[in-house]
Amino acid sequence: MTTPDAGLQQEIHSLAAEIVHAYEELHLLYELGQVLTSDLGVSEVTSLIVEKILQALTAGDAELRLASSSEPVRVSRANVATAGPDHRLSTTLRSAGEIVGGISLARSPDDEPFSSADGKLLDAVGTLAANAIRNAQLLQELRSNEAHLRAVLDNVAEGIITVDEANCIASFNPAAERIFGYAAADVIGGDVRTLLDSLNPGETIGRQSGDRRFAADVSVGTMRLEHDQPLQIFSVRDITRRKEAEAALEHQALHDALTDLPNRVLLHDRLQQAIRAADRNTTSVALLVMDLDRFKEVNDTFGHHTGDQLLEQLGQRLGSVLRASDTIARLGGDEFAVLLPTAALDEAQQIADRLLQVLEQPFTLGGLQLEIDASIGIALSPDHGHDADTLLRRADVAMYVAKRGNVGHAVYTADQDQHSPMRLAMVSELRRAIDQNELSLYFQPKVSLAAGSVTCAEALVRWQHPRHGLLGPDLFVPIAEQTGLIRPLARWVLDAALRQCSRWRHQGLDLAVAVNLSMRNLHDPEVVDTIRQLLTRWGIPPSRLVVEITESSLMADAERAMDVLGRLRAMGVGISIDDFGTGYSSLAYLKRLPVDELKIDKSFVAHIASDDNDAAIVRSTIGLAHDLGLAVVAEGIEDEVTWDYLAGLGCDVAQGYFISRPLPVAAFGDWLATTQWKPQSSACPTFFIQTVPGDAAPEESQASKILSGRVTRNDRVA
Ligand code: C2E
Ligand code: MG
Ligand code: MG
Repeated sequence: MTTPDAGLQQEIHSLAAEIVHAYEELHLLYELGQVLTSDLGVSEVTSLIVEKILQALTAGDAELRLASSSEPVRVSRANVATAGPDHRLSTTLRSAGEIVGGISLARSPDDEPFSSADGKLLDAVGTLAANAIRNAQLLQELRSNEAHLRAVLDNVAEGIITVDEANCIASFNPAAERIFGYAAADVIGGDVRTLLDSLNPGETIGRQSGDRRFAADVSVGTMRLEHDQPLQIFSVRDITRRKEAEAALEHQALHDALTDLPNRVLLHDRLQQAIRAADRNTTSVALLVMDLDRFKEVNDTFGHHTGDQLLEQLGQRLGSVLRASDTIARLGGDEFAVLLPTAALDEAQQIADRLLQVLEQPFTLGGLQLEIDASIGIALSPDHGHDADTLLRRADVAMYVAKRGNVGHAVYTADQDQHSPMRLAMVSELRRAIDQNELSLYFQPKVSLAAGSVTCAEALVRWQHPRHGLLGPDLFVPIAEQTGLIRPLARWVLDAALRQCSRWRHQGLDLAVAVNLSMRNLHDPEVVDTIRQLLTRWGIPPSRLVVEITESSLMADAERAMDVLGRLRAMGVGISIDDFGTGYSSLAYLKRLPVDELKIDKSFVAHIASDDNDAAIVRSTIGLAHDLGLAVVAEGIEDEVTWDYLAGLGCDVAQGYFISRPLPVAAFGDWLATTQWKPQSSACPTFFIQTVPGDAAPEESQASKILSGRVTRNDRVA
């Protein structure tokens, strides 16, 4: 039995133990609190914790495992693993819900077992310990990140400015100090908008100390630090040098080095723009091309240096005659051009007179007095051409005429083309080109809209000119037509196209080829025989050849064409009317002509989905052609919308960039192998005729107007 004294003693004893415990706890907590706010590294913190806990709980062995490392921090006298359950105590360390690690304690079997108060104490200090460790870890990460970041920020070439939500500058790295010419301390806290004109990414103007400005390239990012407000990071580069270099390069690319006048490239660009603007305002553009007479003699007699000086002075004098909106360019050698963006013919002629007048005064060059003459050719848009190249060529032709006639200046007329030296040169070069295989064929597929298969490849001729590069047919077929070279040209094209057709046949491809012929070819009495021979030579069935002839040339002399086309068709060769809609077909002829196919000109097709007038013309042409038993090809399809629209109208065959551009033969082969539009494998008709859906019935009146030539593209129904 226990005496009351003994009971009291017991109570005092346990109270004392609790007080000691509480004191130890307080002390431990205090010490841990110190650890918590220290800036020690993780390993120091963990060792300290282990030591403190060991002291507080007088255990023989303690180990602390961190979630982030496999090696425990251990202070060992006994062994945690072998201690009995009463002599073992452990807790998990959690900070903000995350497990940071765990602590285990052990006492040797001879010591007192752990009490529940010990357990509570360990749990309590565990929480503090976990926070202390987590803090130490974060601090360490932050330090290494910060050190890294500092190193980067201090060494990058870009100016890095961080800015808070109120646009106040929070940091300013050394490169930013260099770029803006301010010390970080002077701008931190200030508004970043005093430094940059725009805070959007891209190019802007930066403002340096002393209010100097520079071209800046800015990129912007956002950085969000835990718990902090987001910071914007501006990375700024001074691109003044680059801009200057770019500007210099661009200037160099667009100007003549000697006179610093615009060169041919810049003139071409401005000319094209002027033509477009004049189109909108229905005004005209004048282009003057000027060539010095006997400049070569100046060079040869007095040397290039004198020649160069002359050209420089000349450029200045010519400039004095012109307005700021005019362009004077040096095209090369002693050739200059003047662009008058809004001049009509009489004004262009007046300017030409004035330009010649300023040359009348002799030039003084290093004590020499030189007189120089020039010739000027004038061409106007839209009268003489509707693109820069044509206008330049024609002004050049007129210039030659002026020079030959010694008349100062001349205005372009179509008949001058006959005699221009360029043309004469082209004629002899073209003759050689045909003989020496400078010509080549590009092929462009025709695809059946309904079946989606390739029915035919149209051969389009190209000339790989040794100096001018690859020339399209528009540049040399007209010359061939005017000189009789059209006969050997057509023969070359027919031969090459049929040879290719035969190669395809050997590869198992039953592809028809279409060849464009000029009206002049149909006037050739031997053309039918030539075609027959070539078909035999390459073993091609006549049904696999289609002859395309443009509507306008056909209608110019339909009676004569009828005979040849009739004989070709009787042989089985397909006949197609090209560029339909641009000429003035008469219904009467169309009915009688031996024709299988109409190709609607690309100028109608291009805007079909957006232009009601074009749509009406195409719709009625399709209806009419079908009534006459003709297949309809739409050329110049450049997008899917147009394809769909034409399919809806019951058009039979499609051609255009949407399907494929004209391609050299090898590329065409690759295209055939990979395209979704497969070539047909067995003999299929070359001409597809779809039945017209009921609701797309032809509008007879409109259609017959088109066919009798009363409606054309330029003669729109308002
Ligand atoms: P074409 O027979 O009407 O040929 C179509 C022209 O339009 C081709 O120009 C072609 O490259 C172009 N084209 C094709 N698809 C599109 C498109 O989707 N959009 C646009 N904007 N254009 C497209 P290219 O090759 O310059 O031929 C021009 C003309 O020269 C031909 O018009 C044809 O009449 C004639 N031609 C071509 N080769 C010969 C030939 O061997 N002999 C003769 N006499 N004339 C030829
Ligand atoms: Mg054609
Ligand atoms: Mg065409």
